[in-house]
Amino acid sequence: RKGNVIITGASSGLGLATAKALADTEKWHIIMACRNFLKAEKAAKSVGITKENYTVMHLDLSSLDSVRQFVDTFRRSGRPLDALVCNAAIYLPTAKEPTYTAEGFELSVGTNHLGHFLLSRLLLDDLKKSDFPQKRLIIVGSITGNTNTLAGNVPPKANLGDLRGLAGGLNGLNSSAMIDGGEFDGAKAYKDSKVCNMLTMQEFHRRYHEETGVTFSSLYPGCIATTGLFREHIPLFRLLFPPFQKYITKGYVSEEEAGKRLAQVVNDSSLTKSGVYWSWNKNSASFENQLSQEASDEEKARKLWEVSEKLVGLA
Ligand code: NDP
Repeated sequence: RKGNVIITGASSGLGLATAKALADTEKWHIIMACRNFLKAEKAAKSVGITKENYTVMHLDLSSLDSVRQFVDTFRRSGRPLDALVCNAAIYLPTAKEPTYTAEGFELSVGTNHLGHFLLSRLLLDDLKKSDFPQKRLIIVGSITGNTNTLAGNVPPKANLGDLRGLAGGLNGLNSSAMIDGGEFDGAKAYKDSKVCNMLTMQEFHRRYHEETGVTFSSLYPGCIATTGLFREHIPLFRLLFPPFQKYITKGYVSEEEAGKRLAQVVNDSSLTKSGVYWSWNKNSASFENQLSQEASDEEKARKLWEVSEKLVGLA
């Protein structure tokens, strides 16, 4: 049988390119988990994914009720789950004030981390039940959260501190809207959320790899300077960022190429090692990359897991 893969945020950018790359293998049925049903349908058509290779299911990661509803809908479909790709994200670099999810968490961390945390915790049971030879749970990371890289050192740098803002509910009322308890900064909130994504992947690996046989992975697909992720940025930035990445940093990668990379992490039989943060060199060969000190801090990963469990109502 074909494998079934859920991809969050498959309506644009990396998620859509990955859906296309996997559909082209003829080995996967793609469940496009998206907040905008019509946009997702149009996106699938625009890249030529044929009807029998995908299903759109509604998911808004900025609402925990929606996450739970999505899981119910998926289970009712009767499909086994063989791979989950947590890809969706928002980035609000020019926001002056925090905005919030349905439950009142700062929107970037609430969507990119907490929504995915609940989703992947709930769907782990489904992955466990699958009889597929290689079961995978992938959480997309980024270089920007890794302070051991040049890009990760562009201020404001990611820093989760002692998680006091998160532990306080991340609501800007009785706690800060930032994980470290500091003042709101939209660009930093995104980077913090990516550190959470990478820490969560490793904590999943430590807690569940042996017991379940599921491969847990993260990756940095390269700088895909053309995606919608930068839609909130100032126009001058959006104009100059793609050529800057192409010709100056040379970190630029097309959406199509990035999609092929993420598709490898889902599908390639040589990328089965669990707990790895994958990256690609200039010749597009994959390698196991090093995470920054904070993004590989075991104690912080455990604490993040426990605090997140409480916030999403699992503990
Ligand atoms: P896009 O903005 O093109 O795609 C993000 C997707 O997330 C969209 O489909 C969007 O939906 C979806 N999304 C946003 N909010 C929600 C929500 N509340 N519920 C459900 N879906 C939501 O960006 P990219 O393709 O660039 O980003 C994909 C991933 O790649 C992210 O995890 C990002 O951190 C990572 N990444 C990107 C890099 C880059 O250079 N672009 C570099 C490194 C990592 P909609 O279409 O409805 O807006």
